[in-house]
Amino acid sequence: MEIIRPVEGLGFKVIGKQCDCCKRDWRSYRSFDEELELFEFTRIEVRAGYAAERFVDGDQLVADLCQYCAYARLGKILRHLGNIFEVPPSSGAGGGG
Ligand SMILES: [Zn+2]
Repeated sequence: MEIIRPVEGLGFKVIGKQCDCCKRDWRSYRSFDEELELFEFTRIEVRAGYAAERFVDGDQLVADLCQYCAYARLGKILRHLGNIFEVPPSSGAGGGG
């Protein structure tokens, strides 16, 4: 869950997050490392439709997981789609033959 603080004129500001699984919290003002951890959180949302058998019809649920719990709980079922830091092979570069 997000930890928020009211900010005059802006409404509120997210200053940290607490993992809904392990309950550990990270706050941006404590250290740069803790601020970086906030970017690694995963949010899972469930919207139960009509005739849901495991949830109440129409319920909306959410969980924020730290990277450690996300990996521990979801790591084995997540499909790898690629890597945003991989550079695709250049097309046509060095051609000329
Ligand atoms: Zn956690």
